[in-house]
Order: sequence, then structure tokens, then C-alpha cells
Amino acid sequence: MVLTDKQKTWKNAQHFKTAVYRWSDRINVEVKEIQLRQMKNKWASISTTGRLTLNKELMDLPQELGEFVIVHELIHLLVPNHSKLFKCYMSAYLPDWQDREKRLKKLSSQK
Ligand SMILES: [Zn+2]
Repeated sequence: MVLTDKQKTWKNAQHFKTAVYRWSDRINVEVKEIQLRQMKNKWASISTTGRLTLNKELMDLPQELGEFVIVHELIHLLVPNHSKLFKCYMSAYLPDWQDREKRLKKLSSQK
């Protein structure tokens, strides 16, 4: 089976962080700081001031799932909740986000 780039895992933390900045440019939000660390019950969190914390375990997952988490958190800088508007933004930036969310949830429940 040939893996596409999106199905491959991240090369290193820098590679992952670069993707965050690429997305923040695209969505036009400001990320002040990125932290990669172990998190018990979630994949990521973001503060209203733009401090993004990502679960280290995302490094072992396909890039497309990490991207989903990145976009989800960055859109929270525009919309703090998971309202209809939030979903509109998700669809605008990542049309197949629901698919990715399902795949990530499956992996979460296998833990
Ligand atoms: Zn959220």
C-alpha cells in the first residue's frame, strides 16, 4: 500500500509546528506559542491569547489527523464554542473535517 503524504506521520516537532503556522496564516489568527506535551484526556487546547498546547501523541498519528486538530483549535480563536458558525469555518478550511474527526475518535477509543 502506498501512503500519501497526509497519511504519513510527522517527521519531527518542527515539522508539526510549521504546519501550525501555515494554518494560522491561512485562517488569519495569531498563535503566540506552541507547546507539545503529554495530555491525558484531550488532543489539544488553546487559550484566548493564542497559546496552543498539542498532545505529543499526535506525532504518532497521520498528518491529516494532526491537521484536523490544529484547524479545530485555531478556529476556536474565531469562535469559542462548537456552534453552527464554528462548523461553517471548519467546512470552509477543511471540507472533510467530519471524516477526520471520526477517524481520530476511533483512535481515541482504542487507547
Ligand atoms: Zn473544540
